[in-house]
Amino acid sequence: MTDTIDSLCKNCLRCVQSCPGQVITKVANAEYKRLGNSYWTPDIIRRQWFQAETGRIPVSGAGYGGPFSGPGFDDMWTDMSEIVRPTRDGIHGREYINTVVDLGRSLRYLRFDAAGHVVGDAPKKIEIPIPIILKDLPLGSLSESVFLAMAEAAQAMDTFMIAPVKEWKPYLEPYKAHLIPLLTEAEIDTHGELIRGVRIIEIQLSDETAARLSRIRAAYPDVLIMVRVRLGERSGEEVLALTRAGADILHLCADRDGNVESGNGPRFVKDVVRSVHMRLVEAGCRNEITLFASGGIAMAEHVAKSIIVGADAVALDIPLLLALECRLCFRCEAGLSCPVEVENIHPEWGKSRILNLIAAWRNQLIEVLGAMGIREIRRLRGEVGRAMFFDDLERETFGRLFGKRKKRESVGN
Ligand code: SF4
Repeated sequence: MTDTIDSLCKNCLRCVQSCPGQVITKVANAEYKRLGNSYWTPDIIRRQWFQAETGRIPVSGAGYGGPFSGPGFDDMWTDMSEIVRPTRDGIHGREYINTVVDLGRSLRYLRFDAAGHVVGDAPKKIEIPIPIILKDLPLGSLSESVFLAMAEAAQAMDTFMIAPVKEWKPYLEPYKAHLIPLLTEAEIDTHGELIRGVRIIEIQLSDETAARLSRIRAAYPDVLIMVRVRLGERSGEEVLALTRAGADILHLCADRDGNVESGNGPRFVKDVVRSVHMRLVEAGCRNEITLFASGGIAMAEHVAKSIIVGADAVALDIPLLLALECRLCFRCEAGLSCPVEVENIHPEWGKSRILNLIAAWRNQLIEVLGAMGIREIRRLRGEVGRAMFFDDLERETFGRLFGKRKKRESVGN
Protein backbone atom coordinates (compact mmCIF):
# COMPACT_ATOMS: atom_id res chain seq x y z
CA MET A 1 0.00 0.00 0.00
CA THR A 2 1.34 3.44 -0.90
CA ASP A 3 1.90 5.93 1.94
CA THR A 4 -1.15 8.22 1.98
CA ILE A 5 1.04 11.23 2.97
CA ASP A 6 -1.83 12.65 5.05
CA SER A 7 0.36 15.47 6.33
CA LEU A 8 0.64 16.91 2.80
CA CYS A 9 -3.03 16.49 1.83
CA LYS A 10 -4.72 19.78 0.90
CA ASN A 11 -8.19 18.24 1.03
CA CYS A 12 -8.95 19.05 -2.63
CA LEU A 13 -10.61 15.60 -3.02
CA ARG A 14 -9.11 15.19 -6.51
CA CYS A 15 -7.98 11.65 -5.64
CA VAL A 16 -11.54 10.73 -4.69
CA GLN A 17 -13.07 12.24 -7.82
CA SER A 18 -10.42 11.03 -10.29
CA CYS A 19 -9.88 7.49 -9.04
CA PRO A 20 -10.82 5.32 -12.05
CA GLY A 21 -11.99 2.45 -9.88
CA GLN A 22 -13.70 4.76 -7.34
CA VAL A 23 -11.98 2.88 -4.53
CA ILE A 24 -10.83 5.96 -2.62
CA THR A 25 -12.95 7.56 0.08
CA LYS A 26 -11.98 10.22 2.59
CA VAL A 27 -13.45 10.48 6.08
CA ALA A 28 -12.55 12.52 9.16
CA ASN A 29 -10.21 10.62 11.46
CA ALA A 30 -12.20 9.21 14.38
CA GLU A 31 -9.33 10.08 16.74
CA TYR A 32 -9.51 13.71 15.60
CA LYS A 33 -13.21 13.84 16.46
CA ARG A 34 -12.45 12.58 19.97
CA LEU A 35 -10.02 15.44 20.76
CA GLY A 36 -10.92 17.72 23.67
CA ASN A 37 -14.48 18.16 24.89
CA SER A 38 -17.58 20.11 23.93
CA TYR A 39 -15.87 23.42 24.76
CA TRP A 40 -12.31 22.69 23.58
CA THR A 41 -13.45 21.33 20.23
CA PRO A 42 -11.19 19.52 17.72
CA ASP A 43 -11.36 22.62 15.51
CA ILE A 44 -10.12 24.91 18.30
CA ILE A 45 -7.33 22.47 19.16
CA ARG A 46 -6.28 22.12 15.51
CA ARG A 47 -6.12 25.91 15.11
CA GLN A 48 -3.92 26.35 18.19
CA TRP A 49 -1.57 23.63 16.90
CA PHE A 50 -1.31 25.45 13.55
CA GLN A 51 -0.53 28.78 15.21
CA ALA A 52 2.04 27.25 17.57
CA GLU A 53 3.70 25.51 14.62
CA THR A 54 3.78 28.47 12.22
CA GLY A 55 3.17 31.68 14.19
CA ARG A 56 0.59 32.53 11.52
CA ILE A 57 -3.08 33.46 11.72
CA PRO A 58 -5.27 30.52 10.64
CA VAL A 59 -7.28 31.49 7.56
CA SER A 60 -10.42 29.46 6.98
CA GLY A 61 -10.89 30.45 3.33
CA ALA A 62 -13.23 32.85 1.57
CA GLY A 63 -16.14 33.82 3.76
CA TYR A 64 -17.25 32.49 7.12
CA GLY A 65 -19.05 29.17 7.04
CA GLY A 66 -19.92 28.82 10.71
CA PRO A 67 -23.00 29.78 12.73
CA PHE A 68 -23.51 33.42 13.66
CA SER A 69 -24.44 32.82 17.24
CA GLY A 70 -23.76 30.24 19.91
CA PRO A 71 -22.99 29.83 23.58
CA GLY A 72 -20.15 31.47 25.51
CA PHE A 73 -18.07 34.02 23.64
CA ASP A 74 -20.02 33.22 20.44
CA ASP A 75 -23.05 35.26 21.46
CA MET A 76 -21.01 38.44 21.20
CA TRP A 77 -19.82 40.19 18.02
CA THR A 78 -17.15 42.86 17.75
CA ASP A 79 -17.40 46.04 15.69
CA MET A 80 -15.73 45.78 12.24
CA SER A 81 -16.86 49.14 10.92
CA GLU A 82 -13.35 50.33 10.06
CA ILE A 83 -12.14 47.12 8.45
CA VAL A 84 -12.20 48.47 4.89
CA ARG A 85 -9.74 51.29 5.63
CA PRO A 86 -6.31 50.23 4.35
CA THR A 87 -4.57 52.66 6.70
CA ARG A 88 -5.93 50.66 9.64
CA ASP A 89 -3.22 48.10 9.15
CA GLY A 90 -1.43 47.49 12.41
CA ILE A 91 0.23 44.21 11.43
CA HIS A 92 2.23 45.62 8.54
CA GLY A 93 3.13 48.74 10.43
CA ARG A 94 1.16 51.31 8.48
CA GLU A 95 -0.36 52.35 11.75
CA TYR A 96 0.87 51.88 15.31
CA ILE A 97 -1.57 50.00 17.49
CA ASN A 98 -0.56 49.76 21.12
CA THR A 99 -1.12 46.52 23.07
CA VAL A 100 0.69 47.63 26.25
CA VAL A 101 -1.27 47.34 29.52
CA ASP A 102 -0.47 48.65 33.00
CA LEU A 103 -0.58 46.41 36.05
CA GLY A 104 -1.25 47.92 39.45
CA ARG A 105 -3.41 50.52 41.13
CA SER A 106 -4.15 54.01 39.86
CA LEU A 107 -4.86 57.08 41.94
CA ARG A 108 -8.45 58.25 42.03
CA TYR A 109 -7.34 61.86 42.03
CA LEU A 110 -4.21 63.95 42.65
CA ARG A 111 -3.70 66.03 45.81
CA PHE A 112 -1.57 69.18 45.86
CA ASP A 113 0.03 71.14 48.69
CA ALA A 114 -0.16 74.92 49.05
CA ALA A 115 2.85 75.32 46.75
CA GLY A 116 1.15 73.29 44.02
CA HIS A 117 3.30 70.17 44.42
CA VAL A 118 1.71 66.76 44.21
CA VAL A 119 1.32 65.21 47.67
CA GLY A 120 2.06 61.53 48.26
CA ASP A 121 3.65 58.84 46.12
CA ALA A 122 2.25 57.49 42.89
CA PRO A 123 1.31 53.82 43.16
CA LYS A 124 3.81 51.37 41.73
CA LYS A 125 2.94 50.18 38.21
CA ILE A 126 4.37 47.61 35.82
CA GLU A 127 3.85 47.67 32.04
CA ILE A 128 3.60 44.52 29.95
CA PRO A 129 3.64 44.70 26.14
CA ILE A 130 0.70 42.36 25.60
CA PRO A 131 -2.51 41.92 27.62
CA ILE A 132 -1.62 38.30 28.38
CA ILE A 133 0.17 36.50 31.22
CA LEU A 134 0.78 32.76 31.51
CA LYS A 135 -1.26 31.00 34.19
CA ASP A 136 -0.39 27.86 36.14
CA LEU A 137 -1.74 24.89 34.18
CA PRO A 138 -4.93 23.19 35.47
CA LEU A 139 -3.87 19.81 34.07
CA GLY A 140 -1.15 18.28 31.97
CA SER A 141 1.76 15.95 32.09
CA LEU A 142 3.98 18.58 33.68
CA SER A 143 7.73 18.54 34.28
CA GLU A 144 10.70 20.83 34.77
CA SER A 145 10.96 21.12 30.96
CA VAL A 146 7.36 22.39 30.68
CA PHE A 147 7.85 24.99 33.45
CA LEU A 148 11.14 26.08 31.89
CA ALA A 149 9.53 26.48 28.45
CA MET A 150 6.80 28.66 29.99
CA ALA A 151 9.22 30.73 32.09
CA GLU A 152 11.52 31.34 29.12
CA ALA A 153 8.55 32.36 26.96
CA ALA A 154 7.31 34.76 29.67
CA GLN A 155 10.77 36.30 29.91
CA ALA A 156 11.12 36.61 26.11
CA MET A 157 7.74 38.38 25.88
CA ASP A 158 8.49 40.58 28.91
CA THR A 159 5.31 39.38 30.56
CA PHE A 160 4.68 37.10 33.58
CA MET A 161 4.08 33.47 34.42
CA ILE A 162 2.21 32.38 37.54
CA ALA A 163 4.04 29.59 39.38
CA PRO A 164 2.53 27.86 42.45
CA VAL A 165 5.05 28.16 45.24
CA LYS A 166 5.33 24.36 45.59
CA GLU A 167 6.73 24.24 42.02
CA TRP A 168 9.31 26.92 42.82
CA LYS A 169 12.70 25.24 42.38
CA PRO A 170 16.24 26.68 41.93
CA TYR A 171 16.12 26.24 38.12
CA LEU A 172 13.41 28.97 38.02
CA GLU A 173 15.59 31.54 39.84
CA PRO A 174 16.99 33.16 36.63
CA TYR A 175 13.41 33.95 35.55
CA LYS A 176 12.06 35.33 38.81
CA ALA A 177 11.65 38.88 37.46
CA HIS A 178 8.97 37.37 35.23
CA LEU A 179 7.41 34.96 37.71
CA ILE A 180 4.43 35.49 40.00
CA PRO A 181 4.48 33.06 42.94
CA LEU A 182 1.00 31.80 43.83
CA LEU A 183 0.69 31.49 47.61
CA THR A 184 -1.85 30.66 50.25
CA GLU A 185 -1.95 33.13 53.14
CA ALA A 186 -0.15 30.64 55.36
CA GLU A 187 2.70 30.42 52.82
CA ILE A 188 3.23 34.20 52.87
CA ASP A 189 4.71 33.99 56.36
CA THR A 190 7.17 31.27 55.37
CA HIS A 191 8.37 32.64 52.01
CA GLY A 192 9.56 36.15 52.84
CA GLU A 193 12.81 35.92 50.92
CA LEU A 194 11.11 34.62 47.78
CA ILE A 195 8.48 37.40 47.92
CA ARG A 196 11.14 40.12 48.29
CA GLY A 197 12.80 38.86 45.08
CA VAL A 198 9.78 39.19 42.77
CA ARG A 199 7.69 42.07 41.42
CA ILE A 200 4.19 40.58 41.86
CA ILE A 201 2.74 37.92 44.16
CA GLU A 202 -0.64 36.21 43.86
CA ILE A 203 -2.61 35.20 46.96
CA GLN A 204 -5.46 32.70 47.02
CA LEU A 205 -8.54 34.50 48.35
CA SER A 206 -9.75 33.53 51.82
CA ASP A 207 -12.16 35.16 54.27
CA GLU A 208 -9.18 36.90 55.89
CA THR A 209 -7.56 38.35 52.76
CA ALA A 210 -9.15 41.80 52.68
CA ALA A 211 -8.38 42.35 56.37
CA ARG A 212 -4.73 41.22 56.00
CA LEU A 213 -3.85 43.17 52.83
CA SER A 214 -2.50 46.25 54.60
CA ARG A 215 -0.19 44.11 56.76
CA ILE A 216 1.15 42.28 53.69
CA ARG A 217 1.67 45.61 51.89
CA ALA A 218 3.57 47.03 54.87
CA ALA A 219 5.84 43.96 54.94
CA TYR A 220 6.49 43.99 51.16
CA PRO A 221 6.07 47.60 49.95
CA ASP A 222 7.81 47.01 46.59
CA VAL A 223 5.68 44.06 45.52
CA LEU A 224 2.34 44.30 43.72
CA ILE A 225 -0.36 42.18 45.37
CA MET A 226 -2.66 40.19 43.14
CA VAL A 227 -5.57 38.23 44.64
CA ARG A 228 -7.08 35.18 42.93
CA VAL A 229 -10.86 35.33 43.11
CA ARG A 230 -12.76 32.19 42.10
CA LEU A 231 -15.81 33.65 40.39
CA GLY A 232 -19.19 32.87 41.94
CA GLU A 233 -22.38 34.49 43.10
CA ARG A 234 -20.63 36.85 45.54
CA SER A 235 -17.86 37.96 43.20
CA GLY A 236 -19.10 41.53 42.76
CA GLU A 237 -19.03 42.24 46.50
CA GLU A 238 -15.75 40.34 47.05
CA VAL A 239 -14.05 42.32 44.32
CA LEU A 240 -15.37 45.61 45.65
CA ALA A 241 -14.14 44.79 49.17
CA LEU A 242 -10.68 43.82 47.87
CA THR A 243 -10.46 46.98 45.76
CA ARG A 244 -11.29 49.12 48.80
CA ALA A 245 -8.85 47.12 50.93
CA GLY A 246 -5.98 48.06 48.60
CA ALA A 247 -5.28 45.03 46.35
CA ASP A 248 -3.32 46.04 43.24
CA ILE A 249 -4.58 43.39 40.83
CA LEU A 250 -7.50 40.95 40.96
CA HIS A 251 -7.46 37.71 39.01
CA LEU A 252 -11.02 36.59 38.21
CA CYS A 253 -11.02 32.83 37.58
CA ALA A 254 -13.71 30.68 35.98
CA ASP A 255 -13.24 26.95 35.46
CA ARG A 256 -11.25 25.71 32.48
CA ASP A 257 -14.34 25.74 30.21
CA GLY A 258 -15.24 29.28 31.27
CA ASN A 259 -18.12 28.24 33.53
CA VAL A 260 -18.96 29.93 36.82
CA GLU A 261 -21.22 28.20 39.34
CA SER A 262 -24.22 30.20 40.46
CA GLY A 263 -27.53 29.42 42.13
CA ASN A 264 -29.35 29.50 38.78
CA GLY A 265 -27.02 27.12 36.93
CA PRO A 266 -23.66 27.94 35.35
CA ARG A 267 -22.94 31.40 33.98
CA PHE A 268 -20.24 32.11 31.46
CA VAL A 269 -17.04 33.94 32.39
CA LYS A 270 -17.59 36.91 30.10
CA ASP A 271 -21.02 37.62 31.60
CA VAL A 272 -19.67 37.43 35.16
CA VAL A 273 -16.63 39.60 34.35
CA ARG A 274 -19.00 42.13 32.80
CA SER A 275 -21.14 42.29 35.95
CA VAL A 276 -18.06 42.52 38.23
CA HIS A 277 -16.64 45.33 36.09
CA MET A 278 -19.97 47.18 36.21
CA ARG A 279 -20.15 46.74 40.00
CA LEU A 280 -16.82 48.60 40.29
CA VAL A 281 -17.92 51.25 37.78
CA GLU A 282 -21.10 51.88 39.81
CA ALA A 283 -19.03 52.13 42.99
CA GLY A 284 -16.77 54.68 41.27
CA CYS A 285 -13.55 52.71 41.75
CA ARG A 286 -13.05 50.70 38.55
CA ASN A 287 -10.05 52.77 37.46
CA GLU A 288 -8.23 52.11 40.72
CA ILE A 289 -7.50 48.46 40.07
CA THR A 290 -6.30 46.01 37.38
CA LEU A 291 -8.51 43.02 36.52
CA PHE A 292 -7.31 39.80 34.92
CA ALA A 293 -9.79 37.22 33.59
CA SER A 294 -9.06 33.52 33.09
CA GLY A 295 -10.88 30.31 32.23
CA GLY A 296 -12.35 29.38 28.85
CA ILE A 297 -10.07 31.70 26.88
CA ALA A 298 -9.47 29.47 23.90
CA MET A 299 -8.90 31.79 20.93
CA ALA A 300 -7.39 35.19 20.18
CA GLU A 301 -10.83 36.77 19.77
CA HIS A 302 -11.63 35.76 23.37
CA VAL A 303 -8.85 38.09 24.58
CA ALA A 304 -10.47 41.06 22.83
CA LYS A 305 -13.94 40.05 24.05
CA SER A 306 -12.74 39.64 27.65
CA ILE A 307 -11.29 43.15 27.54
CA ILE A 308 -14.46 44.61 26.01
CA VAL A 309 -16.53 43.22 28.90
CA GLY A 310 -14.21 44.81 31.46
CA ALA A 311 -10.96 42.90 32.03
CA ASP A 312 -7.65 44.72 31.55
CA ALA A 313 -5.89 41.54 30.45
CA VAL A 314 -6.18 37.75 30.53
CA ALA A 315 -4.27 34.81 32.01
CA LEU A 316 -3.86 31.88 29.58
CA ASP A 317 -3.69 28.24 30.59
CA ILE A 318 -4.92 25.44 28.30
CA PRO A 319 -3.80 27.11 25.03
CA LEU A 320 -0.24 26.93 26.41
CA LEU A 321 -0.61 23.16 26.80
CA LEU A 322 -2.04 22.94 23.28
CA ALA A 323 1.02 24.81 22.02
CA LEU A 324 3.04 21.89 23.39
CA GLU A 325 0.97 19.49 21.23
CA CYS A 326 -1.31 18.38 24.06
CA ARG A 327 -4.40 16.58 22.67
CA LEU A 328 -6.63 17.36 25.63
CA CYS A 329 -7.34 13.67 26.10
CA PHE A 330 -7.45 14.20 29.92
CA ARG A 331 -5.51 10.96 30.52
CA CYS A 332 -3.09 12.80 32.82
CA GLU A 333 -5.98 13.77 35.09
CA ALA A 334 -6.64 10.07 35.63
CA GLY A 335 -2.96 9.44 36.37
CA LEU A 336 -2.39 7.73 32.99
CA SER A 337 0.54 8.24 30.63
CA CYS A 338 0.58 11.12 28.16
CA PRO A 339 0.25 9.95 24.54
CA VAL A 340 2.47 12.77 23.26
CA GLU A 341 4.85 12.78 26.25
CA VAL A 342 4.42 16.49 26.95
CA GLU A 343 6.70 16.05 29.96
CA ASN A 344 9.64 15.19 27.68
CA ILE A 345 9.62 18.32 25.50
CA HIS A 346 12.81 20.30 24.98
CA PRO A 347 12.34 23.64 26.77
CA GLU A 348 13.65 25.60 23.77
CA TRP A 349 11.14 23.89 21.46
CA GLY A 350 8.31 24.50 23.94
CA LYS A 351 9.29 28.15 24.34
CA SER A 352 9.30 28.73 20.56
CA ARG A 353 5.86 27.07 20.21
CA ILE A 354 4.38 29.26 22.97
CA LEU A 355 5.95 32.38 21.43
CA ASN A 356 4.53 31.45 18.01
CA LEU A 357 1.05 30.97 19.44
CA ILE A 358 1.02 34.24 21.33
CA ALA A 359 2.55 36.15 18.41
CA ALA A 360 -0.30 34.87 16.20
CA TRP A 361 -2.84 35.87 18.87
CA ARG A 362 -1.30 39.32 19.17
CA ASN A 363 -1.54 39.81 15.40
CA GLN A 364 -5.22 38.87 15.54
CA LEU A 365 -5.73 41.27 18.43
CA ILE A 366 -4.20 44.03 16.32
CA GLU A 367 -6.50 43.08 13.43
CA VAL A 368 -9.55 43.28 15.69
CA LEU A 369 -8.43 46.64 17.12
CA GLY A 370 -7.71 47.98 13.63
CA ALA A 371 -11.12 46.82 12.40
CA MET A 372 -12.72 48.77 15.26
CA GLY A 373 -10.62 51.86 14.61
CA ILE A 374 -9.04 51.61 18.08
CA ARG A 375 -5.30 52.20 18.34
CA GLU A 376 -4.83 51.57 22.02
CA ILE A 377 -5.81 48.35 23.84
CA ARG A 378 -6.30 50.25 27.12
CA ARG A 379 -9.14 52.13 25.43
CA LEU A 380 -10.92 48.86 24.64
CA ARG A 381 -11.57 48.01 28.28
CA GLY A 382 -15.30 48.09 29.01
CA GLU A 383 -16.08 49.46 25.52
CA VAL A 384 -19.28 47.46 25.14
CA GLY A 385 -20.44 50.02 22.59
CA ARG A 386 -17.93 48.32 20.25
CA ALA A 387 -19.75 45.02 20.50
CA MET A 388 -23.21 43.51 20.12
CA PHE A 389 -24.62 40.83 22.43
CA PHE A 390 -27.17 38.26 21.30
CA ASP A 391 -29.24 38.60 24.48
CA ASP A 392 -29.37 42.40 24.19
CA LEU A 393 -30.41 42.26 20.53
CA GLU A 394 -33.13 39.72 21.26
CA ARG A 395 -34.45 41.70 24.21
CA GLU A 396 -34.33 45.12 22.59
CA THR A 397 -35.05 44.41 18.93
CA PHE A 398 -35.55 40.98 17.40
CA GLY A 399 -37.36 39.37 20.31
CA ARG A 400 -40.08 42.01 19.99
CA LEU A 401 -40.50 41.24 16.30
CA PHE A 402 -40.09 37.48 16.21
CA GLY A 403 -40.52 36.29 19.80
CA LYS A 404 -37.87 34.33 21.66
CA ARG A 405 -35.99 32.46 18.94
CA LYS A 406 -33.11 30.66 20.51
CA LYS A 407 -32.33 29.44 23.97
CA ARG A 408 -28.69 29.76 24.94
CA GLU A 409 -26.96 26.52 25.73
CA SER A 410 -24.51 26.06 28.58
CA VAL A 411 -20.84 25.78 27.72
CA GLY A 412 -18.55 22.84 28.32
CA ASN A 413 -19.31 19.44 29.77
S1 SF4 B 1 -2.12 14.97 25.78
FE1 SF4 B 1 -3.57 14.17 27.30
S2 SF4 B 1 -2.27 13.23 28.88
FE2 SF4 B 1 -0.94 14.57 27.64
S3 SF4 B 1 -0.92 16.53 28.75
FE3 SF4 B 1 -2.54 16.63 27.21
S4 SF4 B 1 -4.41 16.00 28.32
FE4 SF4 B 1 -2.66 15.34 29.55
